[in-house]
Amino acid sequence: MGKNKYYCKIDGVVHNLSDVQEVLDGKSERNIVLIMYEEHGMDIVSANTFESVLRFNNNEIPSDYNEALRRWQEYNQARMPKSPPKPRCPRCGSTDTIKWYDTIDADNGVYVKRWSCKKCGKSWMN
Ligand SMILES: [Zn+2]
Repeated sequence: MGKNKYYCKIDGVVHNLSDVQEVLDGKSERNIVLIMYEEHGMDIVSANTFESVLRFNNNEIPSDYNEALRRWQEYNQARMPKSPPKPRCPRCGSTDTIKWYDTIDADNGVYVKRWSCKKCGKSWMN
């Protein structure tokens, strides 16, 4: 951390974010999102993202914002819940399957969930 720690390169342009640094240092009560929006020409959505990246970066202004943004996005990506794996066809092992509902008792609205394999046509319950 040098004395110019509030210089931040955003999209190739170096911004002097001493106003943001004052907020981080507790010397200012201003809203970081509004500072980025009003003083540094960010749109409001990008300004909100900027603040999130800043928090992710241990409340330090990154010297290269785009690099910090990429790390933040990668972190969020890794935390995204994985979608459950699609069931495999018990006959051919394909995951190209579709879910559908088979009517057991239409009068009483009883259905069972079934899977069908688009590859070999097998259908099964699970
Ligand atoms: Zn199959």
